[in-house]
Amino acid sequence: MKAYVVEPDGTAKDLDGRTIFFSFERFKNEVCQRGHCFVCGATLSNRFNSEHVFPNWLLRHCGIHDETLNLPNGAEARYSTYKISCCQECNGLLAYIYETPISKVVMGGYDSLLEYLRSGGHEKVCGWLSLIFLKVHLKDFRNRISPDHRKDNGMIGDQYELSELHHIHAVARAATAGVQIDRDVYGTLVILQLDASKKETPFDYADNLAGRTLLIQIKDIALIYVLDDCGATGGMLSEKLKKLPHPISAIQLREVYARHLTANIHIKKSPKFRTEFFGPDKKPRITVDLPVLEIYDYEPSIFGRMFAGALGNLAEGIIVDGRSGKEALEIIATGRVSFLFDEEGEVRNANMEEGD
Ligand SMILES: [Zn+2]
Repeated sequence: MKAYVVEPDGTAKDLDGRTIFFSFERFKNEVCQRGHCFVCGATLSNRFNSEHVFPNWLLRHCGIHDETLNLPNGAEARYSTYKISCCQECNGLLAYIYETPISKVVMGGYDSLLEYLRSGGHEKVCGWLSLIFLKVHLKDFRNRISPDHRKDNGMIGDQYELSELHHIHAVARAATAGVQIDRDVYGTLVILQLDASKKETPFDYADNLAGRTLLIQIKDIALIYVLDDCGATGGMLSEKLKKLPHPISAIQLREVYARHLTANIHIKKSPKFRTEFFGPDKKPRITVDLPVLEIYDYEPSIFGRMFAGALGNLAEGIIVDGRSGKEALEIIATGRVSFLFDEEGEVRNANMEEGD
């Protein structure tokens, strides 16, 4: 039987000193704010290495090392230097657990990933997506609210509500500490195929902390993952999204993402996650108490705002009711525009980019 040490703040370690569970306080103070190794919690030392927020193999695969991403504060950063601190051992551990197997599958394209998901890889992919979401938001504790260094308004991350990110951290690092995860803990995962012949951007990423959903596009693969809905949004949207355009356009993909995000925001009571020590061997695992699913009345403007906010650089080319630019976005923000379905609810084809 295994033994654990539970510290006064609730942090649990095994007898080798390995952290099994970070208390909320320790996650917030040490991992988020002080920048300890986000995997094991070690303090900064010369054994520290940097972990790419978007993995190096992915940047190479998509040829975007020298390209820039737009930060929430309006500044830009190069993908190749966008990193967070992490110790060498943990960096190697993440590569072994996630990056090596996932890179192999993803580089094989949509069919290869679909096959992997069907043959037992689903949980690993969900863990990997949780890891990316976590890293993106931990990095915001190093991104200033104002890119102008003369103004010190603190860091973007300081404004985050962290209780949900605390859970996402636990899931993303679980495999590094031998913590199991109950199947019910994983969220809704959607995989879609994009038209690879279209020379659109090979990589795209969007996420939202308030709705705990991400969209990642890698060449012909698009993944949408709702991190903490335990499958509820998939059920809520199954009727509406049972038919989707094929192939799906970039704008339509953003709409599918925004619909999942909106659905998650409409859930009244979020599931309650916890780490427990289970069975005679006291094996640590993350489990969940699922409340009865209750949903707020659908508010179109929430969808509209999420959709408009998710369009990013696609917004410039959008025309709605003959209007473009900011005016088009205002119409989209009402939540009454769909690029997926027409007024009869029939699927629009991907080339008809205009909503109504
Ligand atoms: Zn570490």
